[in-house]
Amino acid sequence: MNPVKIVIAGPRGRMGSEAVKMVSNTEHFKLVAVIDYKYEGHMLSDLEGFHSINNVPVFTNIETCMQNVESDVLIDLTTPEVGMHHARTALQYNVRPVVGTTGFTKADLDELEGICRDKKLGCIIAPNFALGAVLMMKFSQMAAKYFSDVEIIELHHDQKLDAPSGTAVKTAEMITAVREYKHQGHPNEKETINGARGAELDGMHIHSVRLPGLVAHQQVLFGSDGQTLSIRHDSYNRASFMSGVKIAVETVMKQDNFVYGLENILE
Ligand code: NAP
Repeated sequence: MNPVKIVIAGPRGRMGSEAVKMVSNTEHFKLVAVIDYKYEGHMLSDLEGFHSINNVPVFTNIETCMQNVESDVLIDLTTPEVGMHHARTALQYNVRPVVGTTGFTKADLDELEGICRDKKLGCIIAPNFALGAVLMMKFSQMAAKYFSDVEIIELHHDQKLDAPSGTAVKTAEMITAVREYKHQGHPNEKETINGARGAELDGMHIHSVRLPGLVAHQQVLFGSDGQTLSIRHDSYNRASFMSGVKIAVETVMKQDNFVYGLENILE
């Protein structure tokens, strides 16, 4: 079997550097290039932390990369604006995106879905590649059938650019799919400080905590008469996301459609 030829965008990042390790250590994957806007004309082995990874060119823009290197999959772990441009361009070159970058808008997702439909190409976007987080979302959806009152508290490191997290939004959407709309809390409640009740999605409240020391955590809190149920997941390091990225790369090669959320590709 030929190895899957992979380009990684954002290789110096906390997620990207783990992805470089995972791809390099996987026998049926081959890292063919990286995209890093700061290192024109370099090889990956010139960059700090990657001295042992040979023969991988660095491109500063995706168009040049796609034109010069034959690849099957683009793994994007950058920022939402750049990530969207990367995913769109990869598809134009018939390269399948696996996107971990969070903060894409609904319009972005719709646009990518349309391109995938037209080109009959696979693309997987997952706001959370940790398998435990996917289970947390599924268990929350199960619980929401019985507990209609829920608040989501997501906690992340203080360098995260988007809030609420993609995982929190996805969890709320999965809950919305199984529960009737409900405006939670007292009908006359009033915030004495703006934002005290967090963001609202379909009557549910989402609270975003940002602190150094945290990685990616979420608690989904359900309440009903005389009882609460808490479902919590914690990622303590970025390696926790890589088994999901690996599954996504393997799966996207067999797909001809757009998928949002790792839960949709797990058995
Ligand atoms: P990070 O450490 O800040 O890494 C982002 C990297 O992207 C940086 O190295 C940055 O370089 C680089 N970058 C920015 N613009 C670029 C461009 N035009 N071309 C190529 N590289 C570019 O962030 P992170 O923690 O790795 O997270 C990356 C993304 O993954 C975020 O959106 C985050 O929310 C998401 N994330 C997803 C999951 C998941 O499971 N799906 C889990 C954790 C994080 P400079 O620093 O030099 O600007």
